[in-house]
Amino acid sequence: MKKFTLKNFQEKFPNDNVCLEWLRKKLYPRKIYCINCKKSTLHHRIKSKRVYGCDYCGHQISPTAGTIFHKSSTPLTIWFYVIFQMAQTRGGISAKQIQRETGVTYKTAWRMCYLIRERLDEDISPFGGDVEVDDSYFGGKRKGKRGRGAEGKTPVLGIVKRKGAIKAVVVPNLKTKTIDPII
Ligand SMILES: [Zn+2]
Repeated sequence: MKKFTLKNFQEKFPNDNVCLEWLRKKLYPRKIYCINCKKSTLHHRIKSKRVYGCDYCGHQISPTAGTIFHKSSTPLTIWFYVIFQMAQTRGGISAKQIQRETGVTYKTAWRMCYLIRERLDEDISPFGGDVEVDDSYFGGKRKGKRGRGAEGKTPVLGIVKRKGAIKAVVVPNLKTKTIDPII
């Protein structure tokens, strides 16, 4: 399998606007439900804010709502980078290393690690839905508390090769410990 390199990652996510647009497309592939219009409508990006506005009424919604990125002043590029490292690196990445490589404070780095790991442990993607961190993605979002069943869903770890071939492996759970050796 061809490795998705750091260079590939940086080319795919060069800045926060690209990250936000990627997030919007993942969570809302087409229209977004507007609570004001009470229907799904087209939305446009509001510049300089992490939000999109309804084309009809202007009501604003942020694709980061309900994700670990919400209300964080840390750039999305740094968030994505940490998730990329956690998905790609066998031993994960330490808060110290994130601090050194990205320039955020140790406290911020530690909090990011904590939030991302917590989501992975709960089998919930950090992005809020089925998500791919480039050539690897975590599918089969499970609702409810662990142990109470996954509502019939089978956790599947898919490894997407760069040329489009997909290898899917059924795994007992989506914990880092389980999936790292497979990746
Ligand atoms: Zn609206």
